[in-house]
Amino acid sequence: MADRAAIYAGSFDPLTNGHIDIVKRGLKTFDRIVLAVANNPNKSHTFDIEKRMEMARAATDGLGAVEVDTFGGLLVDFARKKGINTLLRGLRAVSDFEYEFQLATMNHNITQEVETVFMMTSEEWFYLSSRLVREVARFGGDVEKMVPKAVYQALTDLYGKSH
Ligand code: ADP
Repeated sequence: MADRAAIYAGSFDPLTNGHIDIVKRGLKTFDRIVLAVANNPNKSHTFDIEKRMEMARAATDGLGAVEVDTFGGLLVDFARKKGINTLLRGLRAVSDFEYEFQLATMNHNITQEVETVFMMTSEEWFYLSSRLVREVARFGGDVEKMVPKAVYQALTDLYGKSH
C-alpha cells in the first residue's frame, strides 16, 4: 500500500506552537508530512525563506516523518510534483473558516485529485497566529510559551529580549 502523505503548507512566518500542534495531529493520521514553506517574493515577510525553513527544520526535528520543503506558485502544482494529493490545513476560530473554505474549493476546482483535510487546533492555540506573535515580540512582549525554541531565539535576535 502506498504511504499516506499530506502536505501542510503555509507562510510559517514564523512557525508557532499552533502549527506544531497540527503537525503532531497530522502524524497520527498520515505516515509522513511535507511541511511546505511558501516562497512568495511579492509578499513581504519578517523572516526570509531560508530562515523560515531553518526554523521549521529545527522545530520539527524529532517529531517523526516530517520533511521541510518550499514551493512557489500554485500549491496544487507542488502537490502534483510531490505525488501527494492530500493537503492538510489547521482550523482555528471560526474566522479561519471562510478563507479556508474558499481556498480548499479553489484548489479542488483546479485539480480534482487534490483533497484538503482540516484539523482543529487544541484550544490552547486557538487564538495564536504568526502575525500576533510577530507583533507581540516586536513590542517586547514575551512569546516564549507560544513558539518553538528556535523561533523564540530568532525573534529575540531580531527584536531583543522581552521585558
Ligand atoms: P498562510 O500563509 O496560509 O496564512 P500560515 O503559516 O499562517 O499560512 O498557516 C498555515 C496553516 O496553519 C493554515 O491552515 C492555518 O490555518 C494554520 N494555522 C495557523 N496558526 C494556527 C494555530 N494557532 N493553530 C492551528 N492551525 C494554525
